[in-house]
Amino acid sequence: MSLKTRLALYVAVAFTALVSAYLLLALFYVTHRTQKELPKSFEELERSVRETRRLVEEPLPIDPLEREKRVFEHVKRERSMKMLVVIYEKGKIKVEGDADPSLLPVVAGVERYGLTGSLIRPVFVFHFPLKVEGRQVGDVYLIKEVRYELALLVGYLFLVALVPVVNLVVSVRFLKEVIKEVAQLKKLAAEFGEGKFDRIEELRKSIETSKRKDELFELKLAILKMVENLSQLIAKTEREKSLYESLALTDPLTGLYNRRMFLELARKELSKAQRYGEPFSVVIFDIDHFKKINDTYGHDVGDLALKHVAQLLKSNVRAADVVARWGGEEFVLLLPKTGPEEAYRVAEKLRKLVERSWLELPGGGRLKMTVSGGVSSYREGVTLDELFKEADEALYRAKRMGRNRVELYGAFSPLKGPEGS
Ligand code: GH3
Ligand code: MG
Ligand code: MG
Repeated sequence: MSLKTRLALYVAVAFTALVSAYLLLALFYVTHRTQKELPKSFEELERSVRETRRLVEEPLPIDPLEREKRVFEHVKRERSMKMLVVIYEKGKIKVEGDADPSLLPVVAGVERYGLTGSLIRPVFVFHFPLKVEGRQVGDVYLIKEVRYELALLVGYLFLVALVPVVNLVVSVRFLKEVIKEVAQLKKLAAEFGEGKFDRIEELRKSIETSKRKDELFELKLAILKMVENLSQLIAKTEREKSLYESLALTDPLTGLYNRRMFLELARKELSKAQRYGEPFSVVIFDIDHFKKINDTYGHDVGDLALKHVAQLLKSNVRAADVVARWGGEEFVLLLPKTGPEEAYRVAEKLRKLVERSWLELPGGGRLKMTVSGGVSSYREGVTLDELFKEADEALYRAKRMGRNRVELYGAFSPLKGPEGS
C-alpha cells in the first residue's frame, strides 16, 4: 500500500472517529439537558394538572389576583401543559381541561408572557385576560412548549461537525504536502543513487528555506550529508583513478607517454592503416653519448637533459603526432598519415632543433647535445614489432655513420638509397 493510500485511510478513520465522538458528545449534551429540565414522569405531569385544577376550583373568597398569581407560579413550574384557563367564578364558564380553542376569540390580547425552560426546550407562557361581556371572569394561560430540539440538534451538530471538517481539510493539506515532499525526496535520492548530483543545490535550498524542523527536515539533512560525502568520495576516487591511469601511462620524469601507452596508440594506428590503407611512420631517437653527460655532470643533469629533449620533441610535432619515452635516453614518435619521406623530414627537423638548442646548467654554462634517429614506415603486412625493429636498425646505422643524423629504413629512402648501400 502506498503512503498516500495509507495516510488517506488514516485520515478517513480519524475523521469518522472524530465525527462519532462529536455526535456522542452532542447527543449526551442534548439528552442530559433535556432530561434535567423536563418533569420526571407522567405521574408528575398528572399531579401537576390536578394541582392546577385544585387551585382553579378553590372556592372563593380567595382573592382572584392571589389565585392568578398562584396559578401562574404553578404553571411556570409545570411546563408540560398546553393551555390553562383560570376562572374566577366557578360555574360561569365551563372549563375543559387543557385546550379549548373556542375560548380564544374571547381573549382580547396578550397581556403578559414569560419564557421558561431550557435553550433546547423553551416554554412560553402567555397570559390573556378572559373577558365576558366586558367583565373579566378569568385568565387564560397559554403554555407553549416549543419542540424544536431536533432543529437545534441539527444546527448544533452542524457547528460541531465544522471542527472535524476543518480538521480534515487541514490534515489533508498537511499530508498532501508531506507526500509531495517525500515523493520529491525519493526522486532526488534515486538520482543521487545513480551518481547524478545536479540537483544537490535544490536540496540545499529547500533545507535553508524550510520552516519546519521536523523529521522530514532531518531526513533531508541526512540525505544532503550523505550525498555530499558520496560526491566527495566519487570525486576523490576519480582523481585517484586518473592519477593511477596517468601513472600507468606516462613517464614520471618527462611527462611523456610511456612505452605501454605508445604501443597502445601504435596498435590503433596500425589497425587504421590496415583497414583504410592510411600510411604512418615511427621514429626512434637516441641521445648521443648520453653516458658521457651523466658521467661528466651527474645523474641530475642527465635527467634535466632528458626533460629538455622531451620538451623539445613534444612541442615541435603536430597535435596528432605522439611522442613517448621508449626507455633510457630513447624517444619514439608515432606520425599518423605520414609516409617515409615526410617522416624523414620531420625527424630531420627535430634532430636539427636539438642540435641547435642547449640546456642551461644549474651551476651556469650551457650543455649542448645531439640525437640520432631511425625512421620506418608502415607497409602492408608489416607488424608493429617489425616496424620498431626496422626503426631501431636505422637508428643503429645512424649511430654507426657518425651520430647526429637520421636514417630511413630499407629501400624507401629517396635520400639515402636502399638499406645497406
Ligand atoms: P650512444 O651515443 O651510443 O647512444 O651512447 P650513449 O652513452 O648514449 O649510450 P648508452 O646506451 O651506452 O648509454 C645510455 C645511458 O643513459 C646509460 C644510462 O645510465 C643512462 N640513462 C638511462 N636512463 C636514464 C635516466 O633516466 N636518467 C639518467 N640521468 N640517465 C639515464
Ligand atoms: Mg641508448
Ligand atoms: Mg645514447
